[in-house]
Amino acid sequence: MKKIAIFTLSCLMFSFTGISQNLNKKVFYLLNLSADGLEKVKTLHDQGKDAEAANALLEYYQSRPFIHHPDVDLNNINIGTAQQQWADDALQHKFFAHRGYQPSYSYGDDINWEYWPIQDNELRWQLHRHKWWSPMGKAYKLSGDEKYAKEWAFQYLDWIDKNPLLDRKEAKLLSDGDKVLENMGFAWRPLEVSHRLEDQTEQFLYFKDSPHFTPAFLSQFLVNYHKHAEHILRNYSERGNHLLFEAQRVIYAGAFFPEFKDAEKWRKSGVEVLSQEIKNQVFDDGMQYELDPHYHLASINIFNRALQMADVNGFRNEFPDYYLATIEKMIEIVYNLSFPDYTMPCFGDAKAVDKKQMLKNYKQWQQVFPNYDALKYFATDRQEGTMPAYHSKAFKDGGYYVLRNGWDEAATVMIFKAGPPAFWHNQPDNGTFELFIKGRNFFPDAGSYVYGGGEEVLKERNWFRQTMVHKTLTLNNENIEETNSKLLLWETSNKDAQTVVVQNQSYKDLAHRRTVFFVDESFFVIVDEAMGSALGKVGIHYQLAEGTANFDKKNLAVATNYEDDNNVVVKTWGNKPLNLIEEEGWVSYDYRQKSERPAFVFEMDKNHETPSRFITVIYPFTKNQPAISAQFDSETINDNKIEVSITVGKKRHSLNASW
Ligand code: MG
Repeated sequence: MKKIAIFTLSCLMFSFTGISQNLNKKVFYLLNLSADGLEKVKTLHDQGKDAEAANALLEYYQSRPFIHHPDVDLNNINIGTAQQQWADDALQHKFFAHRGYQPSYSYGDDINWEYWPIQDNELRWQLHRHKWWSPMGKAYKLSGDEKYAKEWAFQYLDWIDKNPLLDRKEAKLLSDGDKVLENMGFAWRPLEVSHRLEDQTEQFLYFKDSPHFTPAFLSQFLVNYHKHAEHILRNYSERGNHLLFEAQRVIYAGAFFPEFKDAEKWRKSGVEVLSQEIKNQVFDDGMQYELDPHYHLASINIFNRALQMADVNGFRNEFPDYYLATIEKMIEIVYNLSFPDYTMPCFGDAKAVDKKQMLKNYKQWQQVFPNYDALKYFATDRQEGTMPAYHSKAFKDGGYYVLRNGWDEAATVMIFKAGPPAFWHNQPDNGTFELFIKGRNFFPDAGSYVYGGGEEVLKERNWFRQTMVHKTLTLNNENIEETNSKLLLWETSNKDAQTVVVQNQSYKDLAHRRTVFFVDESFFVIVDEAMGSALGKVGIHYQLAEGTANFDKKNLAVATNYEDDNNVVVKTWGNKPLNLIEEEGWVSYDYRQKSERPAFVFEMDKNHETPSRFITVIYPFTKNQPAISAQFDSETINDNKIEVSITVGKKRHSLNASW
């Protein structure tokens, strides 16, 4: 304990005097000076000539040829306009901390790393990811302008100076101990540390040849970097995507700086954690257990990038066979959970993705799976490879059910979500869906808008999390209490009506059974049954994409009115009288961006213990809506079957499901 106290105090004194480009001799104890290539460094250090030894160390790093970085090609650097802007803004200390807060805030001439203008946790956490530093590196490499390197080195040392990692007990003894500890919670959260650990490998490559990257700076950099990796090993997150990110990034650390005595330990720890967590966090069907399409995607990239770092540096054999097989299944989930335009549903905290990003992902994965035919099909924008041999597909462990009539751009695709309990990123939305027809997503999910933070931010987050802003059933508009849907039937061999039936005990005294029929591979019939002793308003909610809609309250129907003749009508019948009520509607595709949209509920009074039953038809039409009618074929609810009849124009469809 005494040793820690002394070290802590020396850090503090250092911070009071202001950090400078002084040689940090600790570096010679952290590196394995007996490693090949470091002979000169060792000799000089042994002779007590540490300044010369640091010179030799920098020369070594400027010329070492044997470490490969899978994400950096110094001969082919691309910086988009956005990243160029982040790099230039950063010269004035305007830091791109998080999307949704632009123009970026200014953190002052004398940088205030504790500045927190909006009480959104992400804004403060992610400031410490230094997302503008790698862009500064790219800008430097492309322009050769030393202003970027000079400023980066300054900010790097300034950050170390003002964001010390202290022993908690010692920090408590400081007069401003609480403030220091609060800042540590943001600056040294393991996820943020892992971001820096990965990104600084890139920055190292961009800046190492600059005259501002001095031997003394190198020593500060390496000591700081070592502290980062060790901090993660001692403070891995308990579970979830954070743990995956942290493990992948200590692999990067171990592989990129093998000269550290602890490098092998880092690499092995990361490989071990990922090899274990790919079993813990991925269901047998391939879905990552947070049930969020975005984090599923991120998890694939984590697993895959760890492999790519292993491949370029020759340690693929440290990963078990099942590791690759699992990633392959996870990729299958992605193209199944994608719409024909390559977008994916914004369930949970998922952020919208676009075709460009997805093509990039697929191409990246192809490097590890060059013989995966379906992957090639999507990676080449349907030009090569082979489309999957099936259409509809159930992922029963993760609770995702995809009803689809093809893989081409005109396909109709419903992605239906009814899964097990999950964690923070998952929302109480069981039974919801997104539906894409002829190039249009008619029912996008509300998204998440913001993550956590102060009261105001949480209020906004909670609006988007509500069950009632999803396409599912509520009692008195309250959030469902349980998210643990059970699959009762999945039947896709009958093309007249493919069927999925799920049930969730949404409230203590009310179960929700939802049946979706995909009729003639062209329209949808949704049967909702609310069973149990609960009394109150039972509602079936729907929300459309942005735009206007025609409400027909008398006939309980809402239709879109796009001028391109690609429209749908939503029409509902109940076993008791229904009201069609307009609701507040918002959709968020990106952080702190939201647009208004039509939303509505078909509501029924459940005033005795008989079930509330609804039939909803979602029918695509061009100019004129067809006449549609629907009825239950049995008056009473049945434990193991459902029978309804739908008539569209003159055609009658008898739909039944039994299990
Ligand atoms: Mg949602």
